[in-house]
Amino acid sequence: MPSAQRPSLDSVTTIREDGSRFFLHPADVRGFFQRHRKWTGLFLIGIYLALPWINIGGYPAVFLDVGGRRFHLFGYILAFQDAWLLFFAITGLGFSLFFVTALLGRIFCGWACPQTVFLEHVYRPIERLIEGDAVKRRKLDASPWTAEKIIKRSIKQVAFVLVSAIISHLFLAYFVSIPELWAMMHHAPSEHWGAFLFVFLFTAVNYFNFSWFREQLCIVICPYGRLQSALTDDNTMVIGYDEKRGEPRGKATDPNAGHCIDCNRCVQVCPTGIDIRQGLQLECIGCAACIDACDEIMTKLDRPKGLVRYDSLNGLDGKKTKWVRPRTILYSILLVAGMSVATFALSTVQPASLSVTRITGAPYIVSDDAVRNQFLVRVVNKSEQDKGFTVEVVGAPDGLRINGIDDVIEIGPLGETVLPLVMVVSRDNYTGQFDLQVVLHNVEGTYSLERKVEFVGPDPRLLQGEGP
Ligand code: SF4
Ligand code: SF4
Repeated sequence: MPSAQRPSLDSVTTIREDGSRFFLHPADVRGFFQRHRKWTGLFLIGIYLALPWINIGGYPAVFLDVGGRRFHLFGYILAFQDAWLLFFAITGLGFSLFFVTALLGRIFCGWACPQTVFLEHVYRPIERLIEGDAVKRRKLDASPWTAEKIIKRSIKQVAFVLVSAIISHLFLAYFVSIPELWAMMHHAPSEHWGAFLFVFLFTAVNYFNFSWFREQLCIVICPYGRLQSALTDDNTMVIGYDEKRGEPRGKATDPNAGHCIDCNRCVQVCPTGIDIRQGLQLECIGCAACIDACDEIMTKLDRPKGLVRYDSLNGLDGKKTKWVRPRTILYSILLVAGMSVATFALSTVQPASLSVTRITGAPYIVSDDAVRNQFLVRVVNKSEQDKGFTVEVVGAPDGLRINGIDDVIEIGPLGETVLPLVMVVSRDNYTGQFDLQVVLHNVEGTYSLERKVEFVGPDPRLLQGEGP
């Protein structure tokens, strides 16, 4: 049987000296944090899976309608043109994560990251159900390929592929909706190649990640763990070992030993294979398994819990933890400022959008008697009712003729219309380039949207044949 790597600060436990992978089977552990972590994980999985099914105003609660170029968010409809709001969403998420990390370390990794949530609460339980606890799984790894091993491994891999496919289909539902997904599943892949490929690849990636790659994603790929040292300080809550209380390690019966009996239980349960007694490490995802493991031992020994616990490095050193400090103040200011701007930006989103783009090709056309510019006016009705709009051009100089936008434009729910807008100035009236506004009004007159456009043309002296 390949022996377990001894955790060290100089190397990654899961990679052997020869570069091969040491596959971890963390021991099962029960306790306060694992219980709460499990319910948190199941609650989050419930949310991930339920959101495409929850119907608000006729659409899924969260629906990234790629085909319709719209984003439905709890009844709010954002068009493709509102994509700039993503900036606030992403920076808001970033600042929230900075703030939470500065206060509570990698609590997101251990409790809410989809990688941990699906691995610990879906894939690992399936593995345990089929192959047994960690000891049995390690034994199975080391055993020759007997009929029992082949059967167990086959069942497990089939189960993993099925679960990965279910997750991928539900993930796709965020982009196409459940009814559309259902319809796709009843037709040949050739009728929706893009979606089929997406599900196929996402299933393959999920399967690879959750069946084999696992903690390597956190250790090798995820950038967040590497940011940890930049975001945390000695007052950040981390999971740590109380060295003053635990050392020197020794037998429970040794009156000169500290409280750590060197049972290694905290190492056996660690999903990334580290020894928390060596201090805070990049590989620690803050899952709190080692706290529960050590508390169990301390309870058996009739010693106080918390030899391994949530505390700051200052707290573990016997000093006071400061919650309010420049870093947390700065991150909270950025967070509040970001949320205020995002709320304001969201409140400015109108139930329609307007874009005016110049037709591709020559920017202007000069004929015998006029200069002409051509645009495309795209109007999107983001509401769920039929709406009427009018378009006018404001700031036009005398003699500008406008074609293409005379009537009221009727657009159905979530529909869009593209109109050609042709502006013509006679040679006699043309005095050079100028700006004007294209304005969209809803027929009720409750709002209007403006876009600036530039009428371009040649140097007017050229038109008169004078030359510059
Ligand atoms: S579980 Fe507790 S007592 Fe056992 S080795 Fe870890 S820190 Fe020491
Ligand atoms: S050291 Fe503890 S908290 Fe960190 S990953 Fe290992 S078991 Fe989880």
